[in-house]
Amino acid sequence: MNLSSTIDLAMGDKTPESLSMDDYFDRLRSDHSPSILARSGRTNRCKPRSRLSTKCPPSAKSKKRLVFDDDNEVARKRKVDRPIDVFEFESQSADEDSKAEEKECNKVSPKGDLNKRRRSFSVGEESSDTKISVSDEVVAARSPSRIIPFEDENGNNTLVRPEMRRVFTEHRDDQSKKESIERARRVKAMEQFQKDVLNSGEDWESHHGSEVETDLDEDLFDDFNHLQMEMELTLIARVSDGLILATSIEGAGDGGDVNMVKYSTQAKTIFKRLAGAPQMHSIESGPYFFHYVTKGAICALCLCEKAFPRKLAFAFLEDIAQEFVNQYTNRIDSVVRPYHFLEFDQYIQQAKRKYADRSRYALGAVQNELQDVTRIMVSNIEDVIHRGEALNILESRASDLNEMSRKYKEDAKALNRKSTIFKVRMSSSVPVKEFDYLVLGGGSGGIASARRAREFNVSVGLIESGRLGGTCVNVGCVPKKVMYNCSLHAEFIRDHSDYGFDVTLNKFDFTKIKESRDAYIRRLNSIYENNLKGSDVELIRGYGTFHEDGSIEVNGQRYRGKHTLIAVGGFPTIPDIPGAELGTDSDGFFEFETLPKKTVVVGAGYIAVELAGVLANLGSETHLLIRYDHVLRTFDHTIATCLTESMEKGPVKLHKRTQVTKVEKDSNGTLTVTTNEGVIEGVEKLIWAIGRNPHTEKLNLDKIGVETDAAGHIKVDDFQNTSKPGVYAVGDAIGKWLLTPVAIAAGRRLSHRLFNGESNLRLNYENIATVVFSHPLIGTVGLTEKEAVAKYGLDNLTIYLSKFNPMYHSVTTHKEQCVMKMICAGEEEKVVGIHLLGLGSDEMLQGFSVAVTMGATKKQFDDTVAIHPTYAEELVTMRGGKKLTAPPPF
Ligand SMILES: Cc1cc2nc3c(=O)[nH]c(=O)nc-3n(C[C@H](O)[C@H](O)[C@H](O)COP(=O)(O)OP(=O)(O)OC[C@H]3O[C@@H](n4cnc5c(N)ncnc54)[C@H](O)[C@@H]3O)c2cc1C
Repeated sequence: MNLSSTIDLAMGDKTPESLSMDDYFDRLRSDHSPSILARSGRTNRCKPRSRLSTKCPPSAKSKKRLVFDDDNEVARKRKVDRPIDVFEFESQSADEDSKAEEKECNKVSPKGDLNKRRRSFSVGEESSDTKISVSDEVVAARSPSRIIPFEDENGNNTLVRPEMRRVFTEHRDDQSKKESIERARRVKAMEQFQKDVLNSGEDWESHHGSEVETDLDEDLFDDFNHLQMEMELTLIARVSDGLILATSIEGAGDGGDVNMVKYSTQAKTIFKRLAGAPQMHSIESGPYFFHYVTKGAICALCLCEKAFPRKLAFAFLEDIAQEFVNQYTNRIDSVVRPYHFLEFDQYIQQAKRKYADRSRYALGAVQNELQDVTRIMVSNIEDVIHRGEALNILESRASDLNEMSRKYKEDAKALNRKSTIFKVRMSSSVPVKEFDYLVLGGGSGGIASARRAREFNVSVGLIESGRLGGTCVNVGCVPKKVMYNCSLHAEFIRDHSDYGFDVTLNKFDFTKIKESRDAYIRRLNSIYENNLKGSDVELIRGYGTFHEDGSIEVNGQRYRGKHTLIAVGGFPTIPDIPGAELGTDSDGFFEFETLPKKTVVVGAGYIAVELAGVLANLGSETHLLIRYDHVLRTFDHTIATCLTESMEKGPVKLHKRTQVTKVEKDSNGTLTVTTNEGVIEGVEKLIWAIGRNPHTEKLNLDKIGVETDAAGHIKVDDFQNTSKPGVYAVGDAIGKWLLTPVAIAAGRRLSHRLFNGESNLRLNYENIATVVFSHPLIGTVGLTEKEAVAKYGLDNLTIYLSKFNPMYHSVTTHKEQCVMKMICAGEEEKVVGIHLLGLGSDEMLQGFSVAVTMGATKKQFDDTVAIHPTYAEELVTMRGGKKLTAPPPF
């Protein structure tokens, strides 16, 4: 069973509530006010207060009133009103009791070498004339917790202060007398210090916490603290009249420690008022509690510091009260002299040690635990400090890294700056060759414009990354026309027998025509180069890109033109479908070394139609896959329809509304082309002819502020000006009429405007004549029916249409129609569009396009005498024009 449970068992639930002195007596007054007030002499004129009243004026009656004051309040009054050694007491009878007690106590006072200084104590209010004087020996003897039984050298029991016992013991043990005296002096100094503190009303903590000048060493402070934890005063009194029967000696009463005198007096007052009071109770008085227990005829009381455990105090009181009753029951009522059972002190001391020991033990245990806790905390704190140090190190390293990273960042920035400056210096150090006119792209438009500019005596530079002549010469018009002409032979051969020739066709050598074609193109390349040289155009070989300053860099060299033309053309589009890369484009077509046995051409434009016609007529099984129902859907609908119908007769295998979904290569090297309409297997060559993209993506046009549209075509105005002043564009790069003559015409006109003062000269993009080298041929100039309707309205158009069998096919088995269509607008029947299908359309169109461009009317055509027999004579002899009643289907 541990200490606390022992105490709990002893006390049960009986631990009474604590009351302050004033509250205690207030409660007694409310319960028993007549008797108490009579005894205390208190009148109803002054209301009860919890503290010594400074508000209630002193009076004769108030002198009789019992007032228990707290130390601080008394001290405050003292500080203000009187010397520190004087304190007040009001009870005359208590004073008499004290004198009696003094006599008893003086009998046992040790005659030590203590301070003989006498002190004077005033009794009562400041105005009181009642005074007593006690010696310091008495003060020492009465000082609570200062007197303990001690067996001297002769074996006699005596009462001494604990400290003095140690002094005496040390003396008895033959230790240095000087040391003992010094020890005693220090004890005395300690006592004096305590008295001064108590008397001055300042609490110990405030002294302890401040720097009090004293000669006491730290040990003595420890002793003093230890004593403070003890029960300060123990008394046993008779309930019936409050006569004190026994004491723990140190609490013998007045005359000792000034404060203990006060508390002894208070205790006596409590004893005198036990009638009607609770059996056990705690009463607060300054820094202390009075605890008392009434047992039969006696009451045991002790004064403890507030920190002293109340349960322990009551257990102690129960203990001594029970023992006292056990020992002296029969004699209690008969005793008349105070402190009659002084010998009971021995038991009190024993019990006190027992309970004090428990307290100390408990305190010790707590202290030990506290020490453990402290140790753990210290350890934890050290651990935390270590971790903190580690964190500090980490933090410091992180901070270092941060700093380093910041520096590196700054260095990198600086390097970047230097590099940029270096680049700028380097680039600015690169000599920039200046031209009056700098042309990017040596194709149809570029070469034409450059050479024409030279005619106006300006310096011209031309940059070309590939073969001179561009698309037209190398992979466009020229090789295509060669191949078309080749395929025409196949057609003619087909008709030779109809014309009477017995011709045996042994073979077609594709390689031969390819070599001849390529040789021709090489010649053309040379001719173009020579022409450039002859024109004194400086040819710059390499891929050019724009620099921010508007110059063009080629192979590390920079060139700048006062005027710069962009004529970079375009390239074929490849669709984004699986296996598309297995196919080729029109450029690839011109690389075929042999005629493919089976070819798939995808597209409905003029390139697709031409290539499919060439291949099919040369003998390749050619499948033309078109997305809708007609080829050349942007052409006049009559022409597109007639050509589609003609092509459907062969030799091209036309697949309408067919789109490729994927392309796969078979193990034999051929392709399987999967479409939405079925699968075409064994395809040797797949040609994508679905459109062209401008060569503008890598030019850094954004750096110089040249705007392009969504497809990348350079935006130009009617005069070929781009959004960047001094920079112009022509040809396929602007996405308008992708034809060689258009690029050439725009380029030449630009040169005239820029260098020949023809500031209003520009290409008129109306009435552009074009030929499709299809089978049969197509020639067209001016507006389609659809465009004419849009421009002149349905009611303002007259359509002349002639379909006839050309004389060439009058004797042949194979028949091909000729279709001629003239679109006239307005009353005067201005010829706004001519569309031809059939033999000779290519060559006849040029002249008629002149007439259309000049704004010739139908009448002027009619006025022209025909050439006979030609197909062209039909155009000047057409009759039976019809007004349109419905818009064209497409
Ligand atoms: C198969 C096919 C058949 C055609 N048939 C005809 C036809 O019968 N009739 C017709 O009128 N048109 C035809 N054309 C169209 C015609 O070829 C073009 O319209 C014409 O070539 C456009 O001329 P251009 O000056 O704009 O561009 P291109 O002639 O293409 O010249 C552009 C030049 O610029 C060069 N270049 C591009 N980028 C750079 C750069 N960054 N640095 C240096 N050099 C660069 C290219 O190498 C190229 O040489 C055909 C086209 C094709 C593909």
